[in-house]
Amino acid sequence: MNESISNHKIYLGAGPAALPSTVLQEASEAIIEFQNSGLSILEIPHRGSLFQNILDEAKILVRDLCNLTDEYDVLWLPGGGRMQFCMIPMNFLGDDETAGYIDSGHWAHEAMKYGSHFGKTLSVCSSKNVDYSALPAIPTSLPNHLAYLHLTTNNTIYGTQWHSLPPQKSTMIADMSSDLFGLPRSFSNFDLFYAVAQKNLGAAGVTLVVAKKEMLAKTKRILPPMLCYAAHAQKQSVLNTPPVYAIYISWLMLKWTKLQSLSVLHEENLKKAALLYNELERNNLFYPLVANKTDRSIMNVCFRTKDDNIATEFSDFCFHHNIVGIKGHRRVGGFRASLYNATPLQNVQTLVAAMQEFERKYS
Ligand SMILES: *Cc1c(COP(=O)(O)O)cnc(C)c1O
Repeated sequence: MNESISNHKIYLGAGPAALPSTVLQEASEAIIEFQNSGLSILEIPHRGSLFQNILDEAKILVRDLCNLTDEYDVLWLPGGGRMQFCMIPMNFLGDDETAGYIDSGHWAHEAMKYGSHFGKTLSVCSSKNVDYSALPAIPTSLPNHLAYLHLTTNNTIYGTQWHSLPPQKSTMIADMSSDLFGLPRSFSNFDLFYAVAQKNLGAAGVTLVVAKKEMLAKTKRILPPMLCYAAHAQKQSVLNTPPVYAIYISWLMLKWTKLQSLSVLHEENLKKAALLYNELERNNLFYPLVANKTDRSIMNVCFRTKDDNIATEFSDFCFHHNIVGIKGHRRVGGFRASLYNATPLQNVQTLVAAMQEFERKYS
């Protein structure tokens, strides 16, 4: 699926994440010249036809991969995940209204905190009391009149993931930053979903926002255009000079994703995750951080050494085996291997083989 570029390390970082070598190759060539235009991809005008084609094709690919009609708009916005944490309540939460948040991890919690700047927020359920080591139980009945319900499909830092999503109960908004296209979803259950590009969808600098056109039009405040979804929709992602290169990389990733197909990627992701979790269960030196199997993420696998004293040795051991990017997030510590779409099975096999060798050496 992904032949490696020579000297390239086995990179399992959580974000910016690994990219397929074919994408890296094509992108590197486009820096010199894009599509026989005599221009670098870094030079093409953002309102010209070359870039317009990228935007048009990307939109078709997103709708196609998500099985959505043109009832949904596709926007590419700057500012990362946190900008969406702001823009969502700014646009859709009135001063006197309440928005529900499913508090399943750090990013989910941050989104809720940003929301409270603009209206009332309600933590519908939370697993903060167990340090987000499991998913919270979603209550069967929700309060009426929520402006929207926000959830995070994959908790990147803690390694938990919603494998099936709650039924649509109100206006549904999802942060899909770290598992978009890692598995098939019922995307049409959402009124708006978004994903930063630097996990499963390309390079840092841009966030994909997919939303019902009808929703984007219903802004609760008068906002400056840069912070207003309706204005971005009206200008179709070229309100200002957009991050052309980051959008270009996402377009390459969308084409690559389509070529693999979501079902094949999902199957591969299940295989990669099973391989690593099985090793974590078997190996005497390690354990997986998420105990409940149904809550485990297939994208971010968090684990620790049973003996804290050998954690540094394991880090060094991996480094000498060319495996990098597995340090856990500073909030959690330990290790985290991110198995996004662009990570080939072979790289997970290499990590597992290293864990086995480490076990022989240190048991
Ligand atoms: C990485 C990540 C973010 C943060 O994105 P930034 O672009 O750094 O603001 C938000 N949500 C989730 C689920 C993430 O994985």
